[in-house]
Amino acid sequence: MQTELAADDVWFPAVRFADGGPLLGGEVSYPLPSFLTADEALGLAQSADRLIAWATAMKMRAVARVEEAVAEEMPPRDGSQPMRFGGEEAHALAVTEVATACAVSEGSAAQSVNDAVELTTCQWEVLEAVEEGKISPAHARVILEQARSLPAAHHGEFSRIALLRTRTRQGRLRTAVELRTSLRRLRERLHPESLSSRKASARRERGVWFTPERDGMCTITAYLPAEAGLPIFNGLDRDARLASARAAEADTYQVPGTAAAPGSRTPPRTLPEYRADALAYRLLGGSSEGIGPFRPEVVVTIPVGQVLAGVPAAAPFAHEAGATGLRTAELQGYGPIDADTALRLAALAPNWHRLFTDFSTGQALGVGRTAYRPPQALLRYLHSRDGTCRFPGCARPARGCEVDHTIEWQDGGHTEPGNLALLCRRHHALKSIGAWSYEHLSHGGDLRWRSALGRTYSTGAADAGAVDRDAGRAETAEPASAAKPPVPPPF
Ligand SMILES: [Zn+2]
Repeated sequence: MQTELAADDVWFPAVRFADGGPLLGGEVSYPLPSFLTADEALGLAQSADRLIAWATAMKMRAVARVEEAVAEEMPPRDGSQPMRFGGEEAHALAVTEVATACAVSEGSAAQSVNDAVELTTCQWEVLEAVEEGKISPAHARVILEQARSLPAAHHGEFSRIALLRTRTRQGRLRTAVELRTSLRRLRERLHPESLSSRKASARRERGVWFTPERDGMCTITAYLPAEAGLPIFNGLDRDARLASARAAEADTYQVPGTAAAPGSRTPPRTLPEYRADALAYRLLGGSSEGIGPFRPEVVVTIPVGQVLAGVPAAAPFAHEAGATGLRTAELQGYGPIDADTALRLAALAPNWHRLFTDFSTGQALGVGRTAYRPPQALLRYLHSRDGTCRFPGCARPARGCEVDHTIEWQDGGHTEPGNLALLCRRHHALKSIGAWSYEHLSHGGDLRWRSALGRTYSTGAADAGAVDRDAGRAETAEPASAAKPPVPPPF
């Protein structure tokens, strides 16, 4: 898309859909915002919303067509091949094509494809309302989301009433949040099943998820039956309030003369902070030493050049971070962490797995045709080099991945870094059925993928590898507990 000033009139820059190639044509003109009154500028914002709604509807129609066309263009199935993706190969292929082409996660792409298919079939009235700018894409998402929680036979009726409810009796367009509240009530009224049978199916969606965040933090989300989640939260809250009260008490009865110097005090912890500490304490025993029900299972990668810089070999991490000059470390499955934390975790490791290998190739670790399964050292190298599944955009951590021989073993492929890559089960399957393929561009783990539709995408080695390459060598610390499988929970 290009923005150009028309030569004869600076008030009306034109948007020409040039990058869209022959698929999107025409021009959209709008007045330069800097010359508008507040009211006119507001009107322009509304018009832009209208355009976004129209473009979203167009995108949904296109995405739905991708799935349909992929199914039409797929070669007929070879009956001897095993069934993959629950027989929904076209759907799986459409999702990966949309995810890579639009640079979104496969989760978002799958949601997009599912929404698009519904909007172009049974929910066509909702799509038309978006296309005409009567409702926003956010309203449409709320309607779909609430309708889906009803049995399919009720979707049509629900959506028709829901579209009427997008406006109040006075004709004001509700916000998406207001609409959701209103539709929840409608859903309760229309739902043909009892609450207990709904609970049974909702339980099937329970889960716990891990999301890495910035600055050495992460988010753990849990979706639980309320009777399990509420007591967990209440228990943590009780712990937090007790700890907070104890801290307040200690503050009140401080021995004279022991008070911290003004300005040096850390601000008091908030209740949410105390609850977070209580959660870690309940599960890990308050420290990383593994006295709680879970033993910490972490792998830290530290460039060996930094390790050797100023630390005695016998006690590599007895020193403060400042003394070692440690700059970067990677927590496997998370990303970069601060030096203090890395050293604290590494100090718990009773032994060190040394990856004294050239990180630009790792070639010394290859075993050629002598073994199909990569030996431990090679495996550790691959985990460090790849970090995650190597499919473009996939973030599944290395520990959940399988080792793929790029050129299959039975076709003469070697067990060496230049012919191996980590793939998650789903993307391994996409490669195995021949839908997607890849080749190694270098010995350092740069791959070029080719999609089922013939589009190409490149993926490079993980950041951990880049850190390692700085120093040329790397060491990986795995606390002893990492090697043993954790005790299975009692259910
Ligand atoms: Zn993957």
